[in-house]
Amino acid sequence: MEQGTIVIVEDDPHIADLVDLYLRKEEFRVLQATDATRGLEIIERESPRLAILDIGLPGSMNGLDLCKLLRSRSQLPIIMLTARDDEVDRVLGLELGADDYLSKPFSPRELVARVKAILRRLDAKDSDTPKDIVLGNLKINSRARETTLDNEKIQLTAKEFDLLLYLAEHKGMVLSRQQLLDGVWGVGWYGDERTVDVHIRQIRKKLGDDMPLTTIWGVGYRFG
Ligand code: CA
Repeated sequence: MEQGTIVIVEDDPHIADLVDLYLRKEEFRVLQATDATRGLEIIERESPRLAILDIGLPGSMNGLDLCKLLRSRSQLPIIMLTARDDEVDRVLGLELGADDYLSKPFSPRELVARVKAILRRLDAKDSDTPKDIVLGNLKINSRARETTLDNEKIQLTAKEFDLLLYLAEHKGMVLSRQQLLDGVWGVGWYGDERTVDVHIRQIRKKLGDDMPLTTIWGVGYRFG
C-alpha cells in the first residue's frame, strides 16, 4: 500500500539518494529537491505527508529558513538534518517547530523509523479528532464549534450549540428532556425541563423549519 509522499530537500545527492532508497522500500513516494526554493515549490504543489530538510542548503534560503516558512503556513511534519552540533542547538533553540532532527552521519534506517513514528503519532491524533457531522445541508464542526447551513454560518449560543451537537451525535434516537438536561447541562443541574424546550425553539428558529428535529409528544426530541 502506498504510504504517501515525502519531500527531501538536500543538496548532497548521496544522502538524498540513500534516504530516497530506504523510504521507497517502505512504499513511500519520494520527491527530491536540492535547494529550498525548489523544495518549497514541490511541497506547495504536492502537499506531502512529511518533509525532510537539510539545514545547509545552497542559495539564499537555508533549511532553517525553509522550516520557519513552512511552519508559519502549515502543520506539515518536518525532520531536520544537521551537519554540525551547533546546528542542533539552533534547531531546538529557535523553536522552529521541527518535529524531529537527525545529526549527520545518520543511519537511513533510523531516519525511516523516525518518519514512521511521526506519521503514526499523527494518525493516532487524527482518529481521535471528531469528524464533522453532516446531515443534508447542515454541517456541525465540533472542534471549531461551528454550524453551517448551506455553507452559511449560523450563530448559536454556546448552549444551543451543545444541545444541537448532542442531538446530532445521537441521531435517530428519541431523547427525553431529562436525558438532554443530563447530557448537555450536566447531571446534577436542577433546571426546569422547559429550559430544553426554550433552547430547541431557538435552534429551530435559527436553522429553519426544514431541520429534521422532531418533537416526540410526551417524550422529548429526535434529530435526524
Ligand atoms: Ca547540505
